[in-house]
Amino acid sequence: LPRLPIFEAIASHDPKSTVVVHSASGRRFTYGELLGDVAEAKDRLLKEAGGNALDGQRIAFLVENSYDYVVTLLSILGTHSIALPLSPAFPTHELQYIMDQSQASMLLSSKKFETKAEALKDVLEGKPRYIKLEKKLGGADYAKVTLEGPTDGQGGMMLYTSGTTNRPKGVLIPQSALTAQAKSLQTAWNYSSKDYLLHVLPLHHIHGTVNAIITPLFSGSAIEFLFPFNATAVWERLAAPFLPDSKEKDKVTFFTVVPTIYNRLLATHQDLSPEKQTAARQGISPENMRLSISGSAALPTPIKKAWADLSHGNVILERYGMTEVGMALSCGLANEDRVDGSVGWPLPSVEVRLVDTETNEVIQPGEELDKDGRERDGEIQLRGPTIFKEYWRNEKATNAEHVEGEDGKGRWFKTGDVAVRREVPSAGHSDQEWARGPLYFIRGRKSADIIKTGGEKVSALEVERELLSLPQVAEAAVMAVPSGKWGDKVGAAVVLRPGAEGKAGKPWGAMDMRRALKDRLANYKIPQVMRVVDEIPKNAMGKINKKQLVKQVFAEDA
Ligand code: ATP
Ligand code: MG
Repeated sequence: LPRLPIFEAIASHDPKSTVVVHSASGRRFTYGELLGDVAEAKDRLLKEAGGNALDGQRIAFLVENSYDYVVTLLSILGTHSIALPLSPAFPTHELQYIMDQSQASMLLSSKKFETKAEALKDVLEGKPRYIKLEKKLGGADYAKVTLEGPTDGQGGMMLYTSGTTNRPKGVLIPQSALTAQAKSLQTAWNYSSKDYLLHVLPLHHIHGTVNAIITPLFSGSAIEFLFPFNATAVWERLAAPFLPDSKEKDKVTFFTVVPTIYNRLLATHQDLSPEKQTAARQGISPENMRLSISGSAALPTPIKKAWADLSHGNVILERYGMTEVGMALSCGLANEDRVDGSVGWPLPSVEVRLVDTETNEVIQPGEELDKDGRERDGEIQLRGPTIFKEYWRNEKATNAEHVEGEDGKGRWFKTGDVAVRREVPSAGHSDQEWARGPLYFIRGRKSADIIKTGGEKVSALEVERELLSLPQVAEAAVMAVPSGKWGDKVGAAVVLRPGAEGKAGKPWGAMDMRRALKDRLANYKIPQVMRVVDEIPKNAMGKINKKQLVKQVFAEDA
């Protein structure tokens, strides 16, 4: 294997310690096995390539959340090529788009997804080389594995964005950026060989791959895959701190998911038997679960509060990141550093600045308020070693989303997300150096969440947060509804909780909403139009495409 930082890290861990556990079967794999299997799988890939170098080529793979996924991913990195994990949940035409756009030269598939992969291979008319991973990938002896050769070819990962605002973009993340992202999270979240992560996320996005696989691998932690996700199974697992026939400690210490998963867990806890309910609460209590993290979309405060109540005080830590940059902002490890509505501070090795969305000026420290004393909205811009290289085959977008720095120290990536910075005196007291100074609060996407109405700017996220704190509201999405006279109107689509009632037993409606929000939000922020809907469509990461939603929900208003 080449001398890549990820392999050096894996080789430095105790070869007998657990790296992966399969929830369903209880099967367990060690760091030693992993290194051997990766070395052998890498050789097989090179053999399949007929002796040709794979440097920089995209190798796509469809493998379920399992030990084999980890082996496949690492073996691709070991050939200096670019690992492109595909989502088995995508329909063939979506996968075809990704295969075509990425010009992948190989398609690997596990037995489980063979039918899917073969259908894909057929529509692709045999362009990529198709390889069935029928047999166990590896099996070589760990002791024989040596690390040698160059530290970095052109390898890395290619991940497609969630496609919330447009068609998914292929993001090229070089090895060096993956390493920098993992090291940054390892430092910030104190990931170590004592950690045991329960993994229930999809594996074709940065959250599930970098935060929950690559970083634990760097740190010597164990990863247990519970797949496919099932809320009851997660509770059963959390209620049982030790797997039936294990000799080793396998208490879950680390959990990182998206808000919609917390929501589903909270909704199903009551379905457990009373003894299980108690045990599950214990499983997520702060003395057992060291960190429960949320990200990928804004965390509603009621979810955070309900989780803390259920778990005897485990406060969810929110962080902010994206495919292009990995994680950028995170709350701190001390409970008082997990301030409601905030995503914390710039993570180690990530340089962050806010650029005023009106004036285009950099908001300097101390200049967070405008002359009228209002908080200034700034676009989050980032740079540093964690940032992606380019949008694949889309130079136009790559150039459009970067801006040259005036200090000659390199260009900044424009995230398209807007935030404010605010001093919170009670926060910033943990012993982490990076967790200092004013906190960042996300206001939403510039393109979809900042609503201009009657000369004012409204953050959809702020209004959603208030709507979600109403007892009648289960889900909410706030968006700009085009309106000739006023610019845009603030519109809300809400899903009601069962039994939600308004005044005098009438269905809960727009009047009730207005009355309830009157003391919580300035008048111009209160939605002018509201529709009750059965559901709010979300993509795999629990995100809402508001451009689409506004057309569906407010067709007649627009
Ligand atoms: P696309 O770029 O294809 O439209 P996407 O932006 O949803 O999709 P991702 O890279 O998966 O694709 O998601 C990153 C985005 O998710 C961020 O730009 C931000 O808008 C949102 N996000 C991530 N974490 C948070 C958070 N804690 N709070 C609010 N928004 C968040
Ligand atoms: Mg995006």
